[in-house]
Amino acid sequence: MAYLNETHEPTLESWVASANVPDNGFPVQNLPFGVFRKAGSSEGFRPGVAIGDQALDLAALAQTKPWDGMAGVALAACQSSQLNDLMSLGQAHWSALRLELSRALRAGSPMQQTLAPLLIPQADLEFSLPARIGDYTDFYISLHHATAVGKQFRPDNPLLPNYKWVPIGYHGRASSIGVSGQKFPRPIGQTRPANENSEPGFGPCERLDYELELGIFVGQGNAQGERITVSDAESHVFGLCILNDWSARDLQAWEYQPLGPFLAKNFASTISPWIVTLEALAPFRTAFQRNPNDPQPLAYLSSPDNKEAGVFDITLDVLLSTQQSRSSKTEPALLSSSNFKEAYWTVAQLLAHHTVNGCNLQAGDLLGTGTLSGPNPGQEGSLLELNQGGKKPVTLPWGEERTFLQDNDEVILRARCSKPGYPSISLGECAGTVLPARF
Ligand code: MN
Repeated sequence: MAYLNETHEPTLESWVASANVPDNGFPVQNLPFGVFRKAGSSEGFRPGVAIGDQALDLAALAQTKPWDGMAGVALAACQSSQLNDLMSLGQAHWSALRLELSRALRAGSPMQQTLAPLLIPQADLEFSLPARIGDYTDFYISLHHATAVGKQFRPDNPLLPNYKWVPIGYHGRASSIGVSGQKFPRPIGQTRPANENSEPGFGPCERLDYELELGIFVGQGNAQGERITVSDAESHVFGLCILNDWSARDLQAWEYQPLGPFLAKNFASTISPWIVTLEALAPFRTAFQRNPNDPQPLAYLSSPDNKEAGVFDITLDVLLSTQQSRSSKTEPALLSSSNFKEAYWTVAQLLAHHTVNGCNLQAGDLLGTGTLSGPNPGQEGSLLELNQGGKKPVTLPWGEERTFLQDNDEVILRARCSKPGYPSISLGECAGTVLPARF
C-alpha cells in the first residue's frame, strides 16, 4: 500500500508565508479541517483548513466552484456548519480535495489571488465542534495505563484476562463533548461510603482528573449488520483530533461496578478544533509490533497493512495552568509527554472490533483511544498515575501542589508529529477549564 503522494513532498512551500516557518505545525503538508467563524461575531460557523497561522474559508471558496470532479463534489460538501457531509463522501473524495487544496496553496499557484481574500487569521477565530457527533465510544488501548491503574486496585493481577485479546471500550455520551476552550462546572455526585454501614458521600467531586487521549473521527460509516474489515478500516477514518476525557475518580470508584463508567465521565469531554486527516499523517506511520510473548491478535484484527504501517508516531503533551500561574504570567507547566505509538491496538483494529458484531458506525461518530500513557515515568496520561493513586501530590514549578484538579485549573493537551526530513505537523491544542461546582 502506497501512502505517500505529491501532497507529502517535504520541499513543498506555500504562498502563505507563515506556513513555511519551521515547526509552525500547519505547513501545506498538513491541511487539517475545522469549523469556525470570526470570534464574537454572529456569522455562521463554516468549514475551513488551517494553513500556517491562517485558516482558509472553504464555504466561501465553494461559492467560486473552482474544481470539477471529486474535488468539486467534496468542496461543495463544505458549505454547512458541520463536516458530516464531507466525512460521509469517503476517502477518494477527501483525497481529491486535499490534492487540489495542496496545489492551490503552494508557492506559485495561479489560484493565489482567488484564495488570499478567503484567509482569516486563526487568532481571530472561534471554533465549534467540527462535526455533529452522533455516538461517542471510548476505548482503553494503553497497556501501560491499564496496568498502572489496575495495580492500584489489584496489585498482584493488574490486567484482567481479556485485555490482550479484546480492545476494551464503553459507550460514552456525545452531548457533553465541547471544543477546546470548553469550561464546565466541577461535577457533583455520590462517592463511596466510609464503611459498609454508612451512607455514600454526596457533593462536589474531590478527585477530578484529565485523560490524555486522541479522538478518531469516523468518515463513511457501515450498514447495520455489516462489518468493516481491518484491511478496509482506515478508509472509514476521516482523521484524528486530541481528546480530554475528564474523569471524576471518586464518583467513578463508587459507580463503576458492574456496568462501567457513567456519571464519572459524561459531564464533559473536550476535543481540539482541527481534525488532521489520516492522509496527512502518512509520513508518520510505523509498524505494529506485538510482543512475541503476548497473544497475537485474532485474524479479524490483523492484516498485512496494519502490521506494516498501522501505527502512528504522534507525540503528546499535558500542560497545566492555574489561577496563580496565570495571574503571575507564568508559562503552563509540562506534566508529562507520551506517544500514540505505544498503544496496544491500532486505529484500524478499533474500527474492525467496533463493527465485528454488526454495529453500525456513522459519519461524525467519535472514538476515543483511552488514556495514552507510556511505559516510563514522565509518560503518565492522567493525574491518577502521576499522583500514584492519590498518594503523592505533584509539585508545580511555581510551588503549588496538585493531587487532583482544583477550580480554575486549565488543562492543555498538545500533539504533533516530527520526523527527520519532513516538516513537522501539529494536531493543535485541546484546552479546558474547571469551574467551581454549582449547587
Ligand atoms: Mn477515557
